[in-house]
Amino acid sequence: MLYDAVVIGAGPAGITAALYLVRSGVSVALVENAAPGGQILSTAEIENYPGFPKSIKGWELADLFDAHLAGYPVERVRGQVLSVEKADGNLFRLSLDEGRELKAKAVVACTGAHHRKLGAPGEDAFSGKGVSYCAVCDGNFYRGRDVAVVGGGNSALEEALYLSRIVNKVYLIHRRDAFRGAMVYQNKIREATNIELVTSSVVDEIRGGAAGMDSVAVRNVKSGETRVIPVEGIFIYVGMEPVSGYLPEGINRNAAGFVLTDAEMCTDIPGIFAAGDLRAKRCRQVSSAVGDGATAATAASSYLEQWNA
Ligand code: NAP
Repeated sequence: MLYDAVVIGAGPAGITAALYLVRSGVSVALVENAAPGGQILSTAEIENYPGFPKSIKGWELADLFDAHLAGYPVERVRGQVLSVEKADGNLFRLSLDEGRELKAKAVVACTGAHHRKLGAPGEDAFSGKGVSYCAVCDGNFYRGRDVAVVGGGNSALEEALYLSRIVNKVYLIHRRDAFRGAMVYQNKIREATNIELVTSSVVDEIRGGAAGMDSVAVRNVKSGETRVIPVEGIFIYVGMEPVSGYLPEGINRNAAGFVLTDAEMCTDIPGIFAAGDLRAKRCRQVSSAVGDGATAATAASSYLEQWNA
């Protein structure tokens, strides 16, 4: 099946790109691997998306984004794109799971990023048995118990606050004594009575037995002192990795694998655009993903006009 544009990924960037493209009058397919919404589905409350002064739950915003697209003739394709490559006549061939294939004149990649692993011993062994990357999904299992959160960015701070409302106690473990997360979250963290800061500290091992993890061994990088903290869960938020492996190998990326674009969201391959968290950039917000999506769609529309001329 040939489309003018195929948008890959149905998070805020992809939904916005699909919306702008379909409204420009071109044929659009939106490939979604999971439920629409992307990372906001695993975000409890979104406090900084304009228009929702009392904050909005991640799943509610995802539903609203999806509902906005529902009235438009966008072809929704459920599946995973495995590769994007040049086909004949300046077209792109997208290979999907189950041997399916799509063709497109333009591709807008909006597949975002996922949480990076910590790399600590025990992390894989206790994955799903105490180790989690999603407080919204798994926090409820630890109601009234003690857990740890690792990281010092916005994700770690936000999720530590979310967990503190459910669990008995949160140990927030961070490798430095300064947090990179927003001051508004840092202040709330310091006010919370059941969050203990374990700063300048790294996780040496996640420990436990057949029933699951039961503790985490932590080392203070300044004093060298070690400490074993009894926790039944550990939530890891040490940054993001791009989901960009399906794009052509030669596409310009930075050292961490994030895709390089210009200000119009054009990659170095004409006809491939990238928007949202898989892009190399500083600001990773719902609002910036939405802006990227609109910008990429506008650039893709111009590209398609030239293509069709
Ligand atoms: P991030 O901002 O990159 O923070 C990652 C944190 O993990 C940093 O504190 C880092 O420590 C720490 N870290 C990295 N590798 C580590 C390791 N091997 N061991 C221990 N700690 C390690 O990642 P993020 O919090 O996932 O956020 C990703 C992006 O999304 C950011 O741009 C963030 O602002 C944005 N975001 C925004 C919101 C919001 O505004 N509501 C919510 C969530 C995410 P150092 O500080 O020492 O480098």
